[in-house]
Amino acid sequence: HAIQLDDVVKEYLSHGEVVQAVKGVTLEIAEGEFFSLLGPSGCGKTTTMRMIAGFEEPSRGVVKLHGQDVTNVPPNKRDVNMVFQSYALFPHMNVWDNVAFGLKQKGVAQAEIRQRVSEMLEIVDLTGREKRRPREMSGGQQQRVALARALVNRPRALLLDEPLGALDLKLRQAMQIELKRIQREVGITFVYVTHDQSEALTMSDRIAVMNDGLVEQLAGPREIYERPATEFVAGFIGTSNLLAGTASAGILPVGGGRVLVPGKDGEVTVTVRPEKITIDTVEPNGEVSAIPGKVAEVVYLGTYNSYSVSLADGAEMTVFQQNALDSSTTAERGDSVWLSWQPQHSY
Ligand code: ADP
Ligand code: MG
Repeated sequence: HAIQLDDVVKEYLSHGEVVQAVKGVTLEIAEGEFFSLLGPSGCGKTTTMRMIAGFEEPSRGVVKLHGQDVTNVPPNKRDVNMVFQSYALFPHMNVWDNVAFGLKQKGVAQAEIRQRVSEMLEIVDLTGREKRRPREMSGGQQQRVALARALVNRPRALLLDEPLGALDLKLRQAMQIELKRIQREVGITFVYVTHDQSEALTMSDRIAVMNDGLVEQLAGPREIYERPATEFVAGFIGTSNLLAGTASAGILPVGGGRVLVPGKDGEVTVTVRPEKITIDTVEPNGEVSAIPGKVAEVVYLGTYNSYSVSLADGAEMTVFQQNALDSSTTAERGDSVWLSWQPQHSY
């Protein structure tokens, strides 16, 4: 494994009280993986990254890089590099010198510096901008300089802490694609910290969803989205409908309808994603979950509509329906409708 955390804990003393920023994180990151730490602000993502980089020593637990225990090894002796949200470029140096700086410091030969810097600038698509100063560049370009500067050292892993946080949405989306391409091209392990679920879902091979100092789920994006392991994950990732009640013989009654929960009895909570639900004006047939309701709101969102549907018990459900040209159903506000979905889509 490129990176291993074994029950890592970080405690801080804050106003005389012990605060646990990280409460026992265990995870393994494979060589070459694009791995994300995802979670709300304050859940311990940065602290976890700083322990991998060596800027913080764990209070307990073990950090391993490429099989070696580095728990007490200083940052400059670890084969990783970190990129932050604030690019921290040298303002008085041009692009070339910013990227070459670390290599010069290490005393790498001139010819090799020239070759490695130009190769890196090519990869981050900044060839021809060598003479620019940071302030003459856009945020996205500055972030690419910061990336090149970190990658030129050829670390075995790159740690990125909310690197796109300062960019506007459009640029951020473009940079997400760029980052993914760069990672594929250089082929090294990326550990990416973000609080933005769509960012993590689109870029990552695997994601650790963190909450309050702990990992709640560790899986691929699809599994996290479709099979959230906890209520927290279901609520944090995307939009989902939470249905709760008492089931008997595999049926959970909800708002005058039924949710199929095969094999379940007693208190259950299930989630269903808005895009898995079909909205129709007639009661559906067959072995499906089906709940009647009234359309409270329709929001047109381009390629799909978002419906808020009130149920008889006062609850509301959200449904996303693709806006195909040949769409047979177009429910309006105030319409009585049936919501239905296949049993395998509720978890
Ligand atoms: P995230 O990056 O997910 O937003 P952090 O790792 O920065 O979260 O912080 C996790 C928790 O630890 C927060 O409650 C934060 O206030 C606390 N914390 C972080 N660094 C320190 C510190 N140096 N001293 C005291 N508390 C800290
Ligand atoms: Mg942070």
